[in-house]
Amino acid sequence: MTDFALDRVFAARARIAGIADRTPLVPSSLNARFGQEFLMKLEIVQPVGAFKLRGAVNAIFGLDADVAGVTCCSTGNHGRGVAYAARARGLRAVVCMSHLAPQAKVAGVRALGAEARIVGQSQDEAQAEAERLVREEGLTEISPFDDPLVIAGQGTIGLELMEARPDLDTILVPLSGGGLAAGVAFAAKTINPRVRVIGITMDRGAAMYASLQAGHPVEVTEVASLADSLGGGIGLQNRLSFPLCRDYLDDVVLVTEDEIYHALQTIYYEDRIVCEGACVVGIAAVQAGKVALRGPTATIITGRNLDMHLHAAIMAGQDVTLGDLTIKGTRYEP
Ligand SMILES: *Cc1c(COP(=O)(O)O)cnc(C)c1O
Repeated sequence: MTDFALDRVFAARARIAGIADRTPLVPSSLNARFGQEFLMKLEIVQPVGAFKLRGAVNAIFGLDADVAGVTCCSTGNHGRGVAYAARARGLRAVVCMSHLAPQAKVAGVRALGAEARIVGQSQDEAQAEAERLVREEGLTEISPFDDPLVIAGQGTIGLELMEARPDLDTILVPLSGGGLAAGVAFAAKTINPRVRVIGITMDRGAAMYASLQAGHPVEVTEVASLADSLGGGIGLQNRLSFPLCRDYLDDVVLVTEDEIYHALQTIYYEDRIVCEGACVVGIAAVQAGKVALRGPTATIITGRNLDMHLHAAIMAGQDVTLGDLTIKGTRYEP
């Protein structure tokens, strides 16, 4: 077991209050179809449009007063969270990302007052640039997931879920580097060990899944996905999010691009919600029969920073191409 404690999550909640506040937990229109109460935690209403603000605010407001500035390597939402939190604290922020990052996300980071530095073709190359800024310019790096303050910040979602619905049976958590899943699973299962917490991710290029299978952090080849926020590695030197996911997640379930495509249509046409592919992996898993619901279930609608032209194409049922991947379109049918 890792050395982590619930008081860190309560401390995070006190620190982020007023910047990254409690989000609504709303019933999904899929209740009837799923045969169980199905709830959605709407992190898309956070100021930067994603839950990552919680971890970023907790980490940045936890830094010493004399810090020179912050940097991070991010596919977008963590970068936006860091930019927003740094501006709130009056600090310089440099966000490093690869050329795979969607243009909408790059523009979003710049609009929040941070420098966006675009380097290389992978998260690893962007990471190397962030490390150079730490060495040469004295900036402090904020990890998107492998940092105790970030994990405690994301864990506040677990607190809110368990306070709102102590009777929750299952929580479905979108999974990438595992900061969110680690924090939520740790908080929820520390409060109630009987709650089932399942990480959900895409079936190609999922680094945490491959690492859990191997029993240690491994690298995977990064591929294009509708759930682009779930791409990227977990770091071969991973210290905290890997062991917490290993110890606290009950299971990890994989969904296909077709299933994500259909779930994006479902949440739009049934619940009128616009969000990223990464958000709907929980819905995709239930729709595909990969997770059987046993009681009240919640999933986290994690972010809404997506390319709206891509979204419009999916809602119209068109084929979409991302890198080497083409997903055959279908008109939405319930
Ligand atoms: C970062 C992110 C995730 C996954 O969070 P991890 O802590 O990296 O596992 C899920 N959804 C969205 C929208 C994200 O930005």
